[in-house]
Amino acid sequence: MEHLPAGLDKLTRVYVRLLHVLFALSPSVAIWYLAQYQDPALRYESHAFHEIAIGVAILASLFVTWITWRCYRDAGDPMLRWLTLGFLGFAIVYAPHGLFTGHAHDHPMLFLLYGPASRLILNACLLLAVLQHGRPADNPEKRGSKRFWLGWLAIFLVIDVAVGLLALSPIADRPELRLGLEWIAFFLALAGLLRMRRHGTDLPLLAIYSLSLAMFAQSSLAFIIAGAWNHQWWLAHAISASGFLLLSYGVIRAFQTTRSFSTVYSQEVIMRQLENANEQLTLMATTDSLTGVANRRHFLDRAGEELARCQRSETPLCLVLLDIDHFKLVNDNHGHQAGDAVLRQLARSIDDMLRGSDVFGRLGGEEFAILLPDTGMSEAIAIAERVRRQISEREMRHGDLCLRITISLGIADFPADGERVDALYAEADRRLYAAKEGGRNRVSPAV
Ligand code: GH3
Ligand code: MG
Ligand code: MG
Repeated sequence: MEHLPAGLDKLTRVYVRLLHVLFALSPSVAIWYLAQYQDPALRYESHAFHEIAIGVAILASLFVTWITWRCYRDAGDPMLRWLTLGFLGFAIVYAPHGLFTGHAHDHPMLFLLYGPASRLILNACLLLAVLQHGRPADNPEKRGSKRFWLGWLAIFLVIDVAVGLLALSPIADRPELRLGLEWIAFFLALAGLLRMRRHGTDLPLLAIYSLSLAMFAQSSLAFIIAGAWNHQWWLAHAISASGFLLLSYGVIRAFQTTRSFSTVYSQEVIMRQLENANEQLTLMATTDSLTGVANRRHFLDRAGEELARCQRSETPLCLVLLDIDHFKLVNDNHGHQAGDAVLRQLARSIDDMLRGSDVFGRLGGEEFAILLPDTGMSEAIAIAERVRRQISEREMRHGDLCLRITISLGIADFPADGERVDALYAEADRRLYAAKEGGRNRVSPAV
């Protein structure tokens, strides 16, 4: 893919940053609008709606707890451990807020306090999760420990009881209690958000995580200025729900991909990896793994292209097939590895002798081919003869072993011997056979 000019790249990055910030702050517009233009005394008190909404929230939260736990169990990402606890704690501490809706008038604090308490628990766990970001994965024993999860379940139930007792105690009537809890929830979300900035928001899931924290912080602000059942209060619920939905979306995406929040890569990284993988695949599909020269398919493809080009430009072209003489003896006498070493050195030597425009490949076994574009028969014979002589003079090494080999070569000439690659191939093969028959270590046709 073409790279963006540096200036444009920077500009789009700054714009995306700005979008993140604006999107994260959008609830504040609604909060400000209601605070400015809506009479705070206006209320919408529907117990049934409140109970149903909270019931749905608890079910969703339990479902997401389970999915997050599954991700954690598979990937061991410690961030996911705290995220699971956050969803679980939220579900358990938030549930009484729905259950006690009917007591909104006789015991208002019993009804109200579970809200800020559940947000405090969730935001505390989210902050701890952020602090765990990038830590090594937990070992499988820790992931599967029943005691760990049952222990935390017990802690959350104890918190439920404690909040209940607090709500029924005389200090519950002091407004600072509810507001204090809400402020703590706000600052925990803010701390998580600030800490998150260190990890950057290039990774899509971490961007979602940051947005959720921004939503949770603003929902606490809305709860602080709201009164029970008024519109700011409902708005605060809606902002909190948006944060929750975003975070649960992130968890489900993690579940569907790498099961981890921190190893889901940015689109940029994925694009780079795809490009590298593509290059790697092309290399693997076109080269011979032993010698590194073109493989049979790639050689024949290139031969077809070069032939077409020479046909258009009405220039000659020659195809040379070459085969090592008595190569079986090298394997038989010195072992297959020595044979492989000879094949590699032969390929490198011939590759070094050729021009950049020539095409060289391994057709299979100890048979190679050279395509000489814009080259007539007499010039091709001279080149083949030079290759034959140099190979016969070269010492091939394998460890302490020093070997000499010879090769036989057959040449076919376009257009005299054929107009297609397979016809040239057949003719070159026939001449290679003739060279072998004629005593090996020779070129056919000879000068
Ligand atoms: P000729 O002069 O008639 O070509 O005799 P030759 O022994 O070279 O011919 P033959 O086709 O009988 O043997 C080819 C040998 O090449 C047999 C096979 O074991 C060996 N060979 C093919 N591919 C490889 C390879 O990748 N590595 C090694 N070490 N040997 C290979
Ligand atoms: Mg051979
Ligand atoms: Mg052979």
